[in-house]
Amino acid sequence: MSLANEKIIWSKRVSQRKIRLLYENDAKGIIDEELIDDIAFKFFIRCQDIITVTDASRGKLKCIKCGNIIYHNRRKDEFLKCEKCFWQITWGSFLKSCHRNQLHGVGALNAFKNYVIKLPKIKTPEGKMILIDQLIHEVHQWTDSKFKEPIITRPVAVNIIEGSTRKVILFLDRLSRSNQRKISYKKFTEKVHSSNNYILESKRRLKKLD
Ligand SMILES: [Zn+2]
Repeated sequence: MSLANEKIIWSKRVSQRKIRLLYENDAKGIIDEELIDDIAFKFFIRCQDIITVTDASRGKLKCIKCGNIIYHNRRKDEFLKCEKCFWQITWGSFLKSCHRNQLHGVGALNAFKNYVIKLPKIKTPEGKMILIDQLIHEVHQWTDSKFKEPIITRPVAVNIIEGSTRKVILFLDRLSRSNQRKISYKKFTEKVHSSNNYILESKRRLKKLD
């Protein structure tokens, strides 16, 4: 993120067109290092912003100017002031800046953190492609004690790729896949399947209660 006239500018999600090109190249065995680096970096700053917003929603905001931590109580009229650089914002204004930006990462925070930690250590285009692929196929999930499997709420791809949840899921289904990428896709579809089972089971339970 950056500041323009004290307005927070969050990083944008990546276009489906770019991701499609990345996977089409990958399926053909073409290594376009420039494209891989471009997308890897865009995801990197996007993940950093998601981590910032998610932590802030838990009362711990990283100052947008200097990175100092500002603790707060999540009251809309509360002034969040940085003691180091004196930057400040109300919690209400901060929330407004995030509105409709798909920046909340609860349930998948570790996936975003994992990407931010690992990307700088990876030097090969293939390694970066694997990390991108794993990130795209991660999911937000929570655990219901009545079910063995964690419950899926939505794919991480919605936070980092442009489009509505429904359109992004359709997009993921249509991505061309080389053999190396089948593993993460298989894991992803298994998770989505467990989520569908949960929805069916919940409906059954509701019927029984009727
Ligand atoms: Zn500061």
